[in-house]
Amino acid sequence: MNKMIFLNGQFVSQDKALVSIKDRGFQLGDGIYEVIRCYKGRAFSLNEHIDRLLKSAEAIRLELPYSRNDLIEYVKELLVGVTWDYADIYIQATRGVAPRTHEFPAAKVNPTVVMYVSQSHGVPERTREKGITAIIVPDTRGTICNIKSINILPNVLAKQAAVEAGADEALFEREGVGVVEGASSNIFAVQEGVLSTGPLSPYTLPGVTRDCVLQLARSQGLPTELRFHSRKELIAASEVFITSTSKEVLAVTSLAGHKIGDGRPGPITLKLAKDYRALVERECGL
Ligand code: PMP
Repeated sequence: MNKMIFLNGQFVSQDKALVSIKDRGFQLGDGIYEVIRCYKGRAFSLNEHIDRLLKSAEAIRLELPYSRNDLIEYVKELLVGVTWDYADIYIQATRGVAPRTHEFPAAKVNPTVVMYVSQSHGVPERTREKGITAIIVPDTRGTICNIKSINILPNVLAKQAAVEAGADEALFEREGVGVVEGASSNIFAVQEGVLSTGPLSPYTLPGVTRDCVLQLARSQGLPTELRFHSRKELIAASEVFITSTSKEVLAVTSLAGHKIGDGRPGPITLKLAKDYRALVERECGL
């Protein structure tokens, strides 16, 4: 099994994959990342993830030393010999190693770019059938949530709050806007047969899965709307689900202590989850 790690242009073993304590990612959270789900060693939506990584880099004015094609080739190289049912490729790029200053380094420094693959697991069937529980927490983040930055302390704290409350996900509620997204997921609701999710905005990550699901829904003629929901609307919705690279399409059946619909995953959620899985299987040749 390939246990090599891509670090700054080279494939090295884990014990050699070392980054300086002066790395701006470590000291300042000055970096971006991406997570790509792989099924039996095949990356799903690879182009979309690489495109988002490039957009995140551009948004923080980080010049990556690799082209789009280089990045794709490195990912493929990492996947050689990988046969796990589920794996994740993690990519992180930071503004590099430099004396600690808040502003960009005075001298030109090379970004630190790391990529590795690790074994992962799908959502257990029992969880898919039951749906998950979510809490709602205040959104303490800023207005660059569209950038997939490594600065995710509010998400870490929100997820921990969910765990401590015995829940699976925490949804961020932003004053004056609504419940915008999960700590690591986008949110969808179904009300009177209309599927809705938040628009692209500074308050949400443009989820790759969100986009796939919207395309699937539209191709089936399901009415869709882009808007945020209030807490009350979500609780009263007939179906609520989250989307993410690792959770795919997953029903929320209990939200902030309230049962959603009849407390079981609804028909539109189940259909989209199934169609999404079919898309994965087609693209990954499973
Ligand atoms: N929002 C946040 C805050 C996330 O961390 C994630 C997971 N990457 C998502 C949404 C879902 O994005 P994707 O479907 O691309 O995994």
